[in-house]
Amino acid sequence: MYDPLVDNCPGPAQPHARSYWQATTQVDLPTPSAILPERADCIVIGSGYTGLNTALELAQRFDQHVTLVEANRIGWGCSTRNAGFAMPGTGRRGYADWQKYVGDEVTRAIQAEYQRAFEKLEHHLQQCPQQLQVQRGGYLKIAHQPSAVEALHSTYETLKKYEPDTRWLDADATQARIHSPQAHAAIHYPQSFGLNPLLLTASIARQASKAGVTLVENAPVQRWDQVGGAHRLHTGKGRICAPKVIIASNGYTPNHLHPSIHGRSLPVLSSVIVTRPLTADERQAIGVATTELVMDTRTLKYYYRLLPDGRLLFGGRGAIRGKDAQHPRYARHLLQALRGSFPALRQLTSEPADYYWSGWVSVALDDYPRIYSPAEGVYTSMGYCGAGVTFTQIAGQRLAELAMGEELPPLPFYQSPLPRFPLPHFRRLGQWAFYQLARWRSL
Ligand SMILES: Cc1cc2nc3c(=O)[nH]c(=O)nc-3n(C[C@H](O)[C@H](O)[C@H](O)COP(=O)(O)OP(=O)(O)OC[C@H]3O[C@@H](n4cnc5c(N)ncnc54)[C@H](O)[C@@H]3O)c2cc1C
Repeated sequence: MYDPLVDNCPGPAQPHARSYWQATTQVDLPTPSAILPERADCIVIGSGYTGLNTALELAQRFDQHVTLVEANRIGWGCSTRNAGFAMPGTGRRGYADWQKYVGDEVTRAIQAEYQRAFEKLEHHLQQCPQQLQVQRGGYLKIAHQPSAVEALHSTYETLKKYEPDTRWLDADATQARIHSPQAHAAIHYPQSFGLNPLLLTASIARQASKAGVTLVENAPVQRWDQVGGAHRLHTGKGRICAPKVIIASNGYTPNHLHPSIHGRSLPVLSSVIVTRPLTADERQAIGVATTELVMDTRTLKYYYRLLPDGRLLFGGRGAIRGKDAQHPRYARHLLQALRGSFPALRQLTSEPADYYWSGWVSVALDDYPRIYSPAEGVYTSMGYCGAGVTFTQIAGQRLAELAMGEELPPLPFYQSPLPRFPLPHFRRLGQWAFYQLARWRSL
């Protein structure tokens, strides 16, 4: 599998991940352009939610000639591989952290920004004939062991100031919904919902195409230089020049795409299995309804949801290196974790899962993304730390505004560059040590 810290670029013509979404979704994607234009006002690199939303905003609201170049097919990266949890927020910082670092007023402004992201997501849902196959019912953050309850409750005490609709579920109330030995209490976030990520990608791509964005597939950016005041990108489909370039390649960004962002993100593999459809007895035994999205309190979190056809999607961290991503032991590891959550699924977890796939998420050193200009005429948004389904909807708007010289709201995401990792060559070693420690702590 492509590895951003090893390979020059992720394409062209790589097949889509063999995901449940790709196998089961009837999807209507716009026809890409066969030809790469020589010039554009703005070039967007990457056709996930970030790139598509940015391109849409630049074309629709700012009347720009936009060409979006994608290394493979539209939505090849995380945006068609994720678990489809639409949750408030991004990164790994919760409201308690934000309150401590930036105070109450800014934390409220952050919450309002998350709400804007939800509004944009609802708009994309309305533009999709299948309504993104939404499953509404909220998201449960569960304490996976008794010792995690107190910290989760303290999170809830701060959270309810900013999200008053959230509810605390004690052990009995949690067990009534999730029959698992690893569910000791929970916070319920009612606004969250599950969706089909591939349909979301297609919905935004259709809108971008309709707004005049030129979408070019199988055009990986392989080299980048300057001619006069313009940027010139060398892609698998030829060269293109523009005064402005948006880097929306996120966790898939090749290590040496542009020197200004080198060493500022850690690409981390996130992996998912999808089981066969559960039997009626299995469903009754675990209690999980198709309306629940569940994530636990581990440092290396596990998350799961029951899909509309009764299969269980279960995800967590995967391998460290791309070349190991497809090794069966990582799918087995997720099956074992699923069995730990639901011993009643012993039979199901002794069989290989029907689907297993992985994708690269971008982790920021200080746990939250940035939208900023790392060099003259270059703009980027990255570092969502695996939580981008909702936030990328507003990130695209903010990135377009930044590129067009507008002032962004005074929020931490928009105020500073992504910090550089110390000794970036050793990011993987640091990640390995972190994984060992986190697994040992969460046993
Ligand atoms: C298994 C998994 C589960 C997840 N589950 C959730 C979830 O439930 N909820 C949630 O909020 N988030 C989740 N995420 C994270 C979420 O999917 C991402 O945050 C989001 O999709 C990022 O979108 P993006 O557009 O920024 O990047 P991507 O969708 O990754 O798009 C980047 C694109 O850039 C392209 N690219 C890279 N380099 C080049 C180049 N040199 N030239 C041209 N193109 C290039 C790539 O081909 C890729 O298509 C999950 C991620 C994974 C992998």
